[in-house]
Amino acid sequence: MSYLASFRGGPYPGYRAITRGIVLGTRIALIVGMTINRFTCGHESSEPGWGNDIHQYPFVCSECRNARIGEKIEFVRHGTPPSSGYSVNHRDGTTEDGVSVYEVKNGTIDYVGWYFDISDRPMFRGFGIIVGFGSDHEPVVKILSIKKSRRG
Ligand SMILES: [Zn+2]
Repeated sequence: MSYLASFRGGPYPGYRAITRGIVLGTRIALIVGMTINRFTCGHESSEPGWGNDIHQYPFVCSECRNARIGEKIEFVRHGTPPSSGYSVNHRDGTTEDGVSVYEVKNGTIDYVGWYFDISDRPMFRGFGIIVGFGSDHEPVVKILSIKKSRRG
């Protein structure tokens, strides 16, 4: 016999999970839960998973992210900007379409992902058009203007 159950309450306000299971006698033989993915924009997605997990991500959902493609942003980049206009992600070796940067939001640099030791490298500031996002969810831009920053 299978059942469908809905739960409220949990580690986050407004938490809700749906669990499917198969009852064998008095034991629940199989519990298949839903993993809820939550993003800083307030959107959620869900996928089948074991147990009832909430994944709170420190970035916006892919729809909100992709809606920003074409937007002009101010950015900071550490290290020499690649002359080819392409930035290689050293962690997985893939070439990204554009140059990956950190966005400057209200005067504050939005460092995302792995950024150890980068403050030792020369710092550049500029403006660019978002063409996509990198594996750490950092913006990848087509550079409009760039200059070496006094800092760094
Ligand atoms: Zn969203």
